[in-house]
Amino acid sequence: MTPEKVLKERWGYSTFRTLQKEAVEAALSGRDSLVVLPTGGGKSLCYQLPAAMEKGLVLVVSPLIALMDDQVSAAREAGLAADALHSNLVGSEKSDAYRRLERGQTTLLYVSPERLLVGDLAEDLAERLCLIAVDEAHCVSHWGHEFRPEYRRLAEVFDRLPKAARMALTATATSEVQDDIVAQIPLRDPVRLVGHPDRPNLVYRAFPRRDQSAQVLEVVRRHPDEGGIVYAQTRKDVERLAAGLAAAGVSCAPYHAGLNADLRRTAQDGFVKEKLDVVVATIAFGMGIDRSNVRYVVHANAPRSLEHYQQESGRAGRDGLEAECVLLFSASDLATHRFLAQKDGTLPPERQKALERQLREIGRFAVAPLCRHRILTEHFDAPYPSGGVQDEAGCAACDVCLGETKGLAEADALVTAQKVLSAAWRTNGRYGAGYVVNLLLGRADDRMTRNAHDQLQVFGILKEAGEATVRAWMDQLIVQDYLEVVEDGLYPLLRITELGKLLCKGEGTVRLGVPAPPRAKKGKKPKALRKAADAGAPADEALFERLRRLRRMIADQLGVPPYIVFHDSALVEMAAAKPRTLAELGEVKGVGAKKLERYGAAFLSVLNGGESAGLLT
Ligand code: ADP
Repeated sequence: MTPEKVLKERWGYSTFRTLQKEAVEAALSGRDSLVVLPTGGGKSLCYQLPAAMEKGLVLVVSPLIALMDDQVSAAREAGLAADALHSNLVGSEKSDAYRRLERGQTTLLYVSPERLLVGDLAEDLAERLCLIAVDEAHCVSHWGHEFRPEYRRLAEVFDRLPKAARMALTATATSEVQDDIVAQIPLRDPVRLVGHPDRPNLVYRAFPRRDQSAQVLEVVRRHPDEGGIVYAQTRKDVERLAAGLAAAGVSCAPYHAGLNADLRRTAQDGFVKEKLDVVVATIAFGMGIDRSNVRYVVHANAPRSLEHYQQESGRAGRDGLEAECVLLFSASDLATHRFLAQKDGTLPPERQKALERQLREIGRFAVAPLCRHRILTEHFDAPYPSGGVQDEAGCAACDVCLGETKGLAEADALVTAQKVLSAAWRTNGRYGAGYVVNLLLGRADDRMTRNAHDQLQVFGILKEAGEATVRAWMDQLIVQDYLEVVEDGLYPLLRITELGKLLCKGEGTVRLGVPAPPRAKKGKKPKALRKAADAGAPADEALFERLRRLRRMIADQLGVPPYIVFHDSALVEMAAAKPRTLAELGEVKGVGAKKLERYGAAFLSVLNGGESAGLLT
């Protein structure tokens, strides 16, 4: 059978996604490959399809033990003989997996790096292996954002397995990290299959943080009954935000490393099985989350780098349907990251420089009034848009291009920046941002009067703009290096930089914008359905909900997450196309032969107007 036939038969897809075919062909011809595709790009198929061709055993090294069982279930749904070996297997699961492996029945085997590093497993499998896939390959690089020492040691094992082709896969890698992956795994003369990093289905919004709880709630309200993740910086923030959401009637749970294992498992399970809409978490949550219909990710604080942001926000919309990523930013987030990084001692100069660069980049992403898709894409060394010239509407999928953050005209931006900067200059870097804001707004207190700052020309010069906007401009000037915040003992002080002084004299250019976050609209159609309607196929909302209920019931019976039965995108297509026969249902994207056989009758019955209870035999 050709790879195309296998794709249709097992997965129900008629065409390969970008670079999947090349990756599959490299594997089948025994060549090493580096596969860099964004989240949701379809990386797993690149190594699962060769396993389905049954040319030998495909070994997948993955650090995500929590995900392995779901990955195995998903692969089995496509009819693959898949198993996993890791430390969390219990009782008979383990002996069954080993028995199937010994009998040569397994074609796809997931292992943790730790498991592969001990004993003779690698040698035992050597003769049968046709492909070794290293998932989350950026973990091998010091330059990446999730370095794992055990990944470095894999090279010793691979040395003993020279015959199998190697495939390293990752979603986020700058060219530096890509080179490092090739050198460390190592890959031998690999084909480099680097996809475009943009995720067009994600709508990015970045706004200044003013009232964290209210702003988070506002986003959550915009997504009734949909799955979302809220990331916060500290455990305390997590607890506070989760309590606030719960009090507002949102189905949610907190998740952080300080909670006991049971609570964490319940939160994770509830979320993946769609019994819980929102998880509020520190970054400890996510590596093990594969729910494909996460419709929004809110960062209540800025993460440490754009790589982190791409990875964490990328958990939204894996199913390819529209999803929203909101970043609430304050310049103080950067100060916190600086503090945390140096908590255990001064960083070596090289790391310090890298940290500063990363903080500047995430700061720029958050506040520069520039297309956010463009900033992210260019960060990963790719041109934006991928095809060439951007039209006037821009990406139409970020706050800037949607007109929610309005950029000031060049001349206005310069004059406004000069006003803010002269206030900082006049106060000689001896006061905090709050004082300078009050000065610009013309709010004098005793201290200001004593200092005679209420006599300055800049006093009240930005009164009309209002506090939120003046603070936003200040942040924008900080990330563009015209202002800096310096820690002086107890207080952070605002100071003009040399570049800022030059700008005051008219040298240089500056960009400023005024953010106006969208307001929640009640009773709006869920995003997933709106997207389908835009594409010209109006999905029947009530039918979609009935299909969703059936899916949840089946998933519950089988003890797997709902997306393993069908993705939202498949349900949306069913609710739009309303297939009447098994053959028609089989045409829906994502309905492979095995799924059609197992679930076809149940879904058809609901599609034909029946009820969903008790349909799975
Ligand atoms: P990644 O690991 O790159 O984040 P996944 O392997 O989880 O992505 O795939 C993301 C989604 O895309 C899954 O729902 C998968 O079934 C779907 N998918 C993969 N390949 C195709 C294809 N050729 N056509 C349509 N959907 C696909």
